[in-house]
Amino acid sequence: MATVLVVEDDAFVRAALVRHLSDAGHAVRSVGAALDALREVTQVGCDLVVLDLGLPDLDGAEALRMLRGVTEVPVVVATARDDETGIVRLLNSGADDYLVKPFSPEHLNARIAAVLRRTGGAGATPLLRVGGLVVDPRRREATLDGTALDLTRREFDLLAFLAARPGVVVQRKELLTAVWQQAYGGDQTIDVHLSWLRRKLGETAAKPRYLHTVRGVGVKIEAP
Ligand code: CA
Repeated sequence: MATVLVVEDDAFVRAALVRHLSDAGHAVRSVGAALDALREVTQVGCDLVVLDLGLPDLDGAEALRMLRGVTEVPVVVATARDDETGIVRLLNSGADDYLVKPFSPEHLNARIAAVLRRTGGAGATPLLRVGGLVVDPRRREATLDGTALDLTRREFDLLAFLAARPGVVVQRKELLTAVWQQAYGGDQTIDVHLSWLRRKLGETAAKPRYLHTVRGVGVKIEAP
């Protein structure tokens, strides 16, 4: 299992990729633009990137070059063009492998497994530390004052997303997109998960230590 970042602007394709990769046991994050991908790999990190080449903000080769400028994380390029020269150029510019669209989930999984085997899953994922809280996005483990926290997948994703942005008020809309991969949804979903997470961190909304709700805006994590 690995933490995979899917970079794909087509919402339908992206949702399908997220579903396939989650089914294969990976922890999946997704973004729709190259600059968001850059921010995600530098701030949160991941074990592997699946990069669509037709993105709205940057040309595929340029996106790859910028990613390579900040991280050694393996990149599997997804291209719509079966163009040998272009593919060779991308492999030379730092792509670890490629897939020509449309590809099957099995094919994608096999390529990802092969790339991770080859690279030893050597993503440059940093540990996230906020006070006594340590979050390891790569191993999907979190400890509080040295004690392991038993978190569900969503609780972990929520905690890791916030811990990558200490002191920053994260908007609910952003949480829905990043953690739930939904463009819209009920605030209740977030509130319920926050309250479970709070309980595991040994705090309450009335007496927060790490998790602070900013009414009408969002949530932030901060060392007590
Ligand atoms: Ca595209």
